[in-house]
Amino acid sequence: MTQKITVIRGDGIGPEIMDATLFVLDQLNTGLEYEDADAGLVALEKHGDLMPAVTLESIARNKVALKSPLTTPVGGGFTSINVSLRRHFDLYANVRPAHTFPNTKSRFDNVDLITVRENTEGAYLAEGQEVSADGETAFSGTRITRKGSERIVRYAFELARSVGRKKVTAVHKANIIKSTSGLFLAVAREVAAQYPDIEFQEMIVDNCCMQLVMRPEQFDVIVTTNLFGDIISDLCAGLVGGLGLAPGANIGKDAAIFEAVHGTAPDIAGQGKANPCALLLAAAQMLDHVGQPENAERLRKAIVATMEAKDSLTGDLGGTGNTMGFAKAIASRL
Ligand code: NAD
Repeated sequence: MTQKITVIRGDGIGPEIMDATLFVLDQLNTGLEYEDADAGLVALEKHGDLMPAVTLESIARNKVALKSPLTTPVGGGFTSINVSLRRHFDLYANVRPAHTFPNTKSRFDNVDLITVRENTEGAYLAEGQEVSADGETAFSGTRITRKGSERIVRYAFELARSVGRKKVTAVHKANIIKSTSGLFLAVAREVAAQYPDIEFQEMIVDNCCMQLVMRPEQFDVIVTTNLFGDIISDLCAGLVGGLGLAPGANIGKDAAIFEAVHGTAPDIAGQGKANPCALLLAAAQMLDHVGQPENAERLRKAIVATMEAKDSLTGDLGGTGNTMGFAKAIASRL
């Protein structure tokens, strides 16, 4: 049976990078069928809703979505669409690889790590945020559960095993935040004991940040709670040349959404200047997820080869190429 995926073209540079990405995917003969669904400003204009029910139904039916960035209008009481999607589908694992590419201005040439961030609990709770009536005191709660910690750490170990990674580092602050971070670490140790084939390391978050900018090559898979993961995964994107090369997957039991980490880049939208690589790398993660690891690897290798040859690179990478030209150069190396 052909597998269908939901395709969300999004706002700003979204449609341009999605066209480029689907062009490359078509050359790979993935056999995937695309079902277009609207979200973001486009959907607000067409359906009066930033995330229409038909789009949620499409993702629920296909279980896999490739998504371009979306604009959440500022003010007007709109919750972030991305946060709503994570909650709706319980997308508990945010998986962000950071890999050095040739010919970027990054400071390191040897980074190859994956951050696995818990996406649903920790310090990012919607409820329990309070500011006292006099505005002098603010309170926000953090909730960590055994179930939430167990499934994210297990996800990290299973991922490590499936892609041949050797080490998982659990990042925490259990020395100070003994309750929540302490529970996460205790569960991480229990889960790690069930994976004797994979090295387990524990690291306090502040030390981890210093180690990442001094010796990033020592890391393989990092697993951590929501807030630390948010910060660390952006730090890692910075280690390898920034947003144009940073993909991310949001994975749950019943659905998975693959996207570029960057936003809609309104400053360059509609000009053909956007780098399609982040969404292409997200598509490679998607191919791994749908059981096409050979195609995923072909795609990643073609991106590396195109960057090595400095062929048709976009402006953010120091080239003078355009979005579709870059995609065609990548496709020619598949
Ligand atoms: P942004 O990532 O859109 O842009 C930051 C800078 O990076 C800009 O100068 C932009 O031109 C550049 N840039 C981003 N992607 C690029 C690419 N592929 N190629 C070349 N240059 C690129 O961040 P922002 O300006 O803070 O946000 C703009 C909008 O995007 C906001 O409305 C925000 O809500 C939305 N946003 C959406 C998502 C998402 O849907 N996942 C994520 C972040 C921001």
